[in-house]
Amino acid sequence: MEIYDITIIGAGPVGMFAAFYAGMRKAKTNIIDSLPQLGGQLATLYPEKYIYDIPGYPAVKANELVGNLEKQLTTFNHTFHLEEEVLSIVRDEDIIEITTNKGIHYSKAVILALGNGSFQPRKLGLENAESFETKGLDYYVNDLMKYAGKKVAIAGGGDSAIDWALMLEPIASEVYLVHRRDNFRGHEHSVERLQESSVSIMTPYIIDELMEENNWLSGIQLKKVKTDETVSLSVDHLIVNYGFTSNLGQLSSWGLESSRNAIAVRSDMSTSMPGVYAAGDICSYDGKVKLIATGFGEAPTAVNNALHFINPKERTQPAHSTSLFNKTIQ
Ligand SMILES: Cc1cc2nc3c(=O)[nH]c(=O)nc-3n(C[C@H](O)[C@H](O)[C@H](O)COP(=O)(O)OP(=O)(O)OC[C@H]3O[C@@H](n4cnc5c(N)ncnc54)[C@H](O)[C@@H]3O)c2cc1C
Repeated sequence: MEIYDITIIGAGPVGMFAAFYAGMRKAKTNIIDSLPQLGGQLATLYPEKYIYDIPGYPAVKANELVGNLEKQLTTFNHTFHLEEEVLSIVRDEDIIEITTNKGIHYSKAVILALGNGSFQPRKLGLENAESFETKGLDYYVNDLMKYAGKKVAIAGGGDSAIDWALMLEPIASEVYLVHRRDNFRGHEHSVERLQESSVSIMTPYIIDELMEENNWLSGIQLKKVKTDETVSLSVDHLIVNYGFTSNLGQLSSWGLESSRNAIAVRSDMSTSMPGVYAAGDICSYDGKVKLIATGFGEAPTAVNNALHFINPKERTQPAHSTSLFNKTIQ
């Protein structure tokens, strides 16, 4: 049984920085997120937006900040469990049992950096869609080469759908982009590149039916919006890119004291469950401000106090700052 010192649930900016800081304190660290990628709201909701209130950066794009956090974090050899949603945490004597949709993890302390809750892709609203999730229907692109030489349809009208279509154009044998409106919501430059590409643009269509042959997706039927007109495309893969939803799911049943839809913490970031700490958007205390910068401050507080909880001999202040406390404030 693998037991971590600290398990960080949520790999948004705050969870990522907490994991980096846990590495600085040599804690054996496990990071769990329901998404396949790091970066939380920044990576899923606004990767191209500039952020102006990060100390030391006059302006930084969200995806660049995530890239830098990742670079900083991967200096340590932490364990990652991505695409795994935490369903419950239970304290059993000195160990916290973390149950996910894929298994159970054990940890001496936990830091909850859940933000607005677990992100999930918005799914295709067809009755039998779920049964295709292991046979040609994808909500994430993890490995571009899996589509090499294949006929691929992408559904969606935002930047991600357009970006995937353009990235797959030279790799797949055929790329279709299906959108229910005539206009795309992507950047003008991306839309222009799309129009100049060999991607077949199918608008305004919705996906009406998934077809199967030899236990794999063989095609999709499209229905033209506000008409009965249908068209069938023979495809090997369908990538649905309808954005994400976030929800706090079963958090209310985890037995943690909460306030205003967030987890109540003390000034050391501890929650009402011994050994469980919280930081970032998910935590609540008097005067809490939901910003990346404030979350970055809460993360080391949570890590240091979690380590002190595991081993009371551990200092709660980083070594380099202790000299401050020998001085008398005049
Ligand atoms: C459009 C927009 C613009 C913004 N601009 C700014 C800005 O300019 N400056 C600023 O400071 N802030 C900005 N914010 C707010 C900022 O994004 C948040 O404060 C920040 O993302 C909080 O970070 P976090 O790590 O606490 O949570 P999140 O970024 O929400 O990350 C939480 C992570 O936890 C995961 N998770 C949650 N529950 C579970 C579970 N049960 N199991 C597994 N994984 C789970 C989620 O999948 C997610 O990846 C903006 C927000 C939005 C929406």
